Amino acid sequence: MKADLHSHSSVSDGLLPPAEVAHRAADRGLALWALTDHDEVAGIAEARAVAEERGVHFLAGSEISVTWRDDDNFHIVGLGIDPAHAPLVAGLEVIRAGRDGRARRIAAELEKAGIHNAYEGAARYAAQSSIISRAHFARFIIEQKIAPDMKSVFDRYLAKGKPGYVPHQWASLDDALGWINGAGGVAVLAHPLRYRVAREALHDFLGEFRERGGAGIEVACGGHAADEVQECARLARRFGFKASIGSDFHGMGERSLDLGMTPALPGDLTPVWRDLI
Ligand code: AMP
Ligand code: MN
Ligand code: MN
Ligand code: MN
Repeated sequence: MKADLHSHSSVSDGLLPPAEVAHRAADRGLALWALTDHDEVAGIAEARAVAEERGVHFLAGSEISVTWRDDDNFHIVGLGIDPAHAPLVAGLEVIRAGRDGRARRIAAELEKAGIHNAYEGAARYAAQSSIISRAHFARFIIEQKIAPDMKSVFDRYLAKGKPGYVPHQWASLDDALGWINGAGGVAVLAHPLRYRVAREALHDFLGEFRERGGAGIEVACGGHAADEVQECARLARRFGFKASIGSDFHGMGERSLDLGMTPALPGDLTPVWRDLI
């Protein structure tokens, strides 16, 4: 099964509209695909229509931003959700609303670091989106030639502990799990090795996530080296998680990853889509 269950459109911080991502999923030979925009489901209907027309099995998804403990940020991907489930829709709306004030605070911090008018600059890149994300700030900072690429912008300005980072209150873990499970979906921890947390904290999080209704973790992530796939596979076995696969596609250009560009899932793991299709 050629699957990719983590991707973004211009509804959040991807570069292509949902229909174009769907066409690309078909062109890239995916049999199973999910659109998982940050804190948003507005692209689902358009994506589903094109995917079905092109013969790609589609799962409705969203990547929900969660705050755990004081200021640790985890991304929980809901897959196979009903995008009209009222508590999910209302909850995502609250998270999206919080993003604007955060963006203004990010811009104020960047101003102190000598980067001017970043709110307006990022908002230009977010014009097609219903959220404003750090990826939009990154595109503006690259445009200003202050940093050469996404990785260096995050390393220098936007990652936790850097001058443009501000703490923010996202959804609680229980809220996100409640919305996803209530919407008939399964909850999957995105890119488990990409959080700036100590390994011990990651393990604590995984235990709590499992206990409170999390079903899976991404094991085959875009950009994962073989040893990272193995480490995620070990975590899946240890905590009893199903395994997901996702490129975290945002469009071509700024990152080299295309849809479907992921390592394979180790054969002993249960794919997260087993109960969804
Ligand atoms: P936000 O949800 O506003 O915190 O923004 C998070 C988004 O920023 C991610 O979904 C990616 O699109 C982008 N991002 C975060 N870290 C990196 C990185 N190191 N390189 C490229 N993009 C990143
Ligand atoms: Mn993103
Ligand atoms: Mn993410
Ligand atoms: Mn993502």
